[in-house]
Amino acid sequence: MKKKIQKIDQLLINHFGIPPKSKRRPDPLDTIIGTILSQNTNDSNSYKAYRNLKDNFKNWDQLAILKPSQIEKYIRIAGLGKQKSKAIYGLLQSLKKKQKRISLNHIERNTDEQILEELTSFNGVGVKTVSCVLLFSLDRNICPVDTHVHRTLNRIGIVKTNNPEKTFYEILNKIPAGAAHSFHTNLIRLGREFCKPAVPNCPGCPLKSICKYEDKTVESGKAYKTNNFMLLDNLD
Ligand code: SF4
Repeated sequence: MKKKIQKIDQLLINHFGIPPKSKRRPDPLDTIIGTILSQNTNDSNSYKAYRNLKDNFKNWDQLAILKPSQIEKYIRIAGLGKQKSKAIYGLLQSLKKKQKRISLNHIERNTDEQILEELTSFNGVGVKTVSCVLLFSLDRNICPVDTHVHRTLNRIGIVKTNNPEKTFYEILNKIPAGAAHSFHTNLIRLGREFCKPAVPNCPGCPLKSICKYEDKTVESGKAYKTNNFMLLDNLD
């Protein structure tokens, strides 16, 4: 599998280029909160909600004083306000109980597996969120799997799974060293621009020579616009 992933990564780089990385790695807690906000909405609205929090609170300790209904007012634009404010509140309260200052700086010392275990124990924090922390905040060689990455990897024939979490574990530890960021980011781009959910645009796809998808129909529709993934490289 590693060799196939390497080939895909190279073909995508040839087509899309090497995706730029942010100069400053986002704080792990910023990434978690950004990822919670990004669920089921578009980049623009989740980023506005994230900025509402960052611009109105000096740090996450200040936000932790609020009740979920108060947090909801700041993040309403990202949708699912009740659910997301509860998740953020729960996370901040759990961290508050555990340590004096609300921060996740200690995880830097831990292995990927330890971080996955610790952070998924918080309500509302799933494998996808933690994998974003590992890649974007800690620069680990981990590929988060969202709906685009899951769909494209199944169509290409790298995995045969029925949900993103299973796809994540199938490819875990099989990404060539240093390739996770480009592989992840370019697969999302592939999923938005070519390998769209309903009808993939195979004729122009940079992976058509190696892809195992059988029904390579012609498609000339518009680019797929919606997604549920905030540009986590850009958090500050
Ligand atoms: S060839 Fe078609 S199915 Fe395969 S990755 Fe490209 S767009 Fe998706």
